[in-house]
Amino acid sequence: MTIELPALPYARDALAPHISEETLNYHYGKHHQGYVNKLNKTIDDSDRAGLSLEQLILRQDSDTFNNAAQIWNHSFYWNSMSPQGGGEPSGKLADAINAAFGDSETFKAAFKKAATSNFGSGWTWLVKRTDGSLDIINTDDADTPLTNAGVTPLLTVDVWEHAYYVDYRNSRGDYLDSFWKVVNWGFAESNLA
Ligand code: MN
Repeated sequence: MTIELPALPYARDALAPHISEETLNYHYGKHHQGYVNKLNKTIDDSDRAGLSLEQLILRQDSDTFNNAAQIWNHSFYWNSMSPQGGGEPSGKLADAINAAFGDSETFKAAFKKAATSNFGSGWTWLVKRTDGSLDIINTDDADTPLTNAGVTPLLTVDVWEHAYYVDYRNSRGDYLDSFWKVVNWGFAESNLA
């Protein structure tokens, strides 16, 4: 079995002007594809060739973890955005955000603060803890909440420079402000269930 690059859930120009087609050509077409190619090269002809992406991540083998986790993180990130995104959370997600943070504006400010202070390359996540409460966590490099049984990821933003340098140069804050214009609250709510 070969690990395949999942289809992008929208056209490469569909998030413009917030995320440009050029960014997605590189970020999805080169970076995400590159992780898939490197992982397949590593597992080809090994006893791991038949494993699923999730199984490969959970093994945390030093020669496959980074590429496997980056494949999963990026697919989760594409789904965290939508051309029909933006606006405000609703339903059970809004209730959970309000319970944890007070209101959605306070949540967005806390999420941005976590993301802008995430040093170097990594990811910022909205997660559900085992008691049902919501929290914001940062992960470094390829690290993923999938290996943490105590949390369920609901939403993520990629804060590696390759995610925003084409469109926002060094301004991670401007990129995060734009993230809310395309954020897929419906995806986050579906992950709550
Ligand atoms: Mn990335």
